[in-house]
Amino acid sequence: MEERLRTLYTLQMIDANLFKLEESKGDLPGIVRQLREDVAVLEDSIKQKRDLMSETVAARNKADEDLIEFTEKLERYKSQQYQVRNNKEYDAITKEIEFAVESIATLQSQFLSFEATMSSATLDIDALTLKLDEKQEELAEKAVELAKVSETTEEEESKLRSARDTVAALVSPEDIAQYERIRSARGIVSVAVIWKNKCCSGCKNQIPPQHLIEIRKNDALYMCQHCGRMIVSDQLATTVDAEV
Ligand SMILES: [Zn+2]
Repeated sequence: MEERLRTLYTLQMIDANLFKLEESKGDLPGIVRQLREDVAVLEDSIKQKRDLMSETVAARNKADEDLIEFTEKLERYKSQQYQVRNNKEYDAITKEIEFAVESIATLQSQFLSFEATMSSATLDIDALTLKLDEKQEELAEKAVELAKVSETTEEEESKLRSARDTVAALVSPEDIAQYERIRSARGIVSVAVIWKNKCCSGCKNQIPPQHLIEIRKNDALYMCQHCGRMIVSDQLATTVDAEV
C-alpha cells in the first residue's frame, strides 16, 4: 500500500514539475515581448522629445536673429526720426518704430516659452532615459533567461515525460482514472499532502485528528473530506520529494 501511495505522489510531483515547466515557458516569451514593446515606446517618446528640443532650439536661434535685426532697425529708425523732411515721412517712420517695438516684445515673450519648453523637454528626456535604461536592463536579463529556458525545457520535458510514462505504468487503471478525474476537477493537484501538520495542502482545510493518524500509517488511500483530493502523509511526501 505504501508503494501505491508513493507512486501516486511521485506521479503528482512529475505532473507538478511539467506544469512548472509549461508555466516557465508560457510566461517568459510574453514578458520579453512586452519588454521589447516598452523599450520601443520609450525610444519613440525620447526621439519625439529630442525632435521637439531641436525644433525649439532652431526657433529660439531664429528668434535671436530676429531680435538682433529688430533692435538694430529700431536704433536706425530712431536716428532717422530726426532727419525726416515732412509729416508723411514722420508717420511712416513712426509706424516702423511701433512695429519694431511690438516685434521685440513678442520675441521676448516667445523666449520665455521656448525656455519653458526646453527645460521641461530636458526633464522628460532625463526621466524617460532612466526608465529606458531600466527596461533595457530587464529585457537583457529576461532574454538571457528565455534563451536558457528554451535550451533546457526541451531536454527537461522529454525527461519528465518518459519518467511519467514509467511511473504511470506502475499505477492501477482505477487509480489513474481517479487521479485524472480529480485533476480535471481540481487543477494540477490530485494528490495532496498533510500541510502544516494538520491541513490538506490542496484546500488548506483542517483534517480531523483521527484521520491524520490513519493517513500517517500509510496503509490506505484517504480522500480529503472537503476537496476530494487524495491525501498522503507528510513523511511519505518528504521521501518522494527527495527522489524527484
Ligand atoms: Zn482538501
